Amino acid sequence: MTTPQPPSNPANHRSMRLRGRLLISYAVLLTVTLAVVALVLLLFLFAQPAPVEDSYEQLITVARDVIQDSGLTEGRVSLAELQRLLTSIPQTAQEYGVRILVVNLPNQTVLVDSAGAFSDGAALTLEREAYTLPTYLVNRIGLRGEPIFGRFRDVDGAEWVYSGLAFVRLGAENNALLFAERRARQPAPVVIQRFRRELALPLCQAALIGLIVSLALAGAVSRAFTRPLTRLEEGAAAVAVGHYDQRVAEEGPAEIRAVAAAFNHMVSEVQNSQQAQKDFLANVGHDLKTPLTSIQGYSQAIMDGAAKDPAKAARVIHEEAGRLNRMVTELTDLARLQAGRLSMKTRPIDMGQLAAVIGERLSLLARERSLTLHIDAPSLPEIAGDGDRLAQVLTNLVSNAIKYTPSGGEIWLQAHVNNGGVEVIVRDTGRGIAAEDLPRIFERFYQVDKARGPKRGTGLGLAITQEIIQAHGGRISVTSAGVGQGSTFTIWLPSPMLTTIARGRGRM
Ligand code: ADP
Repeated sequence: MTTPQPPSNPANHRSMRLRGRLLISYAVLLTVTLAVVALVLLLFLFAQPAPVEDSYEQLITVARDVIQDSGLTEGRVSLAELQRLLTSIPQTAQEYGVRILVVNLPNQTVLVDSAGAFSDGAALTLEREAYTLPTYLVNRIGLRGEPIFGRFRDVDGAEWVYSGLAFVRLGAENNALLFAERRARQPAPVVIQRFRRELALPLCQAALIGLIVSLALAGAVSRAFTRPLTRLEEGAAAVAVGHYDQRVAEEGPAEIRAVAAAFNHMVSEVQNSQQAQKDFLANVGHDLKTPLTSIQGYSQAIMDGAAKDPAKAARVIHEEAGRLNRMVTELTDLARLQAGRLSMKTRPIDMGQLAAVIGERLSLLARERSLTLHIDAPSLPEIAGDGDRLAQVLTNLVSNAIKYTPSGGEIWLQAHVNNGGVEVIVRDTGRGIAAEDLPRIFERFYQVDKARGPKRGTGLGLAITQEIIQAHGGRISVTSAGVGQGSTFTIWLPSPMLTTIARGRGRM
């Protein structure tokens, strides 16, 4: 038989694999996070309005051009000039691609609006900003007066930026000529350039730091997982070559601890089953051999004419052959039960009635042994089960009670409803079972007293009984106060009818 061998240095490979995978997932996470951050920042920048300074400078240049082209002079303007200017404003505005307004500064009212949104005399709140034009621009356009700058809201709420020439006094009033344009959003190339200039570097630095931290984290996490996993692998390899006493330390992360605990439990089960298999083979060999030796001995004596009482010898042979027969039948039953191959004919069974019938059947035997058998088994709610198999169980328990109770003793056979099922109790005042034997009583071939005798059992009855009860989804248990103190066997079987009622009650 070949046994799987672990790879030469699996811990290192696994650790590297795990670390690599963790690192990749961290890197992916990091990239996605940073990409989202970058996107949000970009969207934020795109939503930002363009800086007003560019507009101020551009508008003041237009203002200068308009003034020059209109042939206006500084200071007071004649009425004729005013008339001309006012009528030409819409056309001029269109020509220069700006909005032109004439506003009375102290009253904050509109006199003329090239866009026609503000009617004559409409109120307009001007937000003024103290902005100083760059000197090169002042020199280039040759302004002499004090330009004004700021923002205002249109009738529809939109924000406009204006540059005004307050030095152009129109008429006697303190009026100003405003040149305005809608406040624009940042143009895409500007946004991208600003992003590249101001944000790309911090983002890259964040990515680098994140990667370094990920590398350290991946190493630490993979180490925490790999060490206990390697121990598990070594443990499994040792079990595979027959070291069933192998156990692994239950340490590391909770999930790995759970796997280690499950592994240890599995190994101890395997160990038990291996031991049981060894014991079973030893027992089968021994228990089959004993009657065969008797048969051989007595038949030899008959053949040699050495038997003093050939009829007695033949009876012994007959009894031992009968025992062998029982043993083989029971072994076959047990093997089939354990493999789940013994066909069960499930139908509704009244365990109370069945107990009463079995009790009646065995009461004669009890009487022969001078034992009193008390039967307390009323009709009970039905359970789903195989009548013949359950009869076998009850027969076995009551026969054992009769077998292991000295004459003059008492046996009780009781059946009642308990805990969503039915319970049958077989109690006797017999020889009892020592505490150290109690846990082994349901093992195959286990007999407390192996003394020989014509009526000696096989040690398989309780093992079969337990298998049958378990196949019905039930439980069997035994208690005894000790040797000479009697024993109590209790079986419990679930009843679908009672379970439904119990559930219904639970819901109420
Ligand atoms: P057996 O064929 O030996 O009766 P079982 O499996 O039925 O095999 O029982 C196993 C052993 O359990 C018996 O040999 C006996 O030692 C012990 N035992 C079973 N029932 C009783 C009982 N009612 N009182 C005392 N000992 C019992």
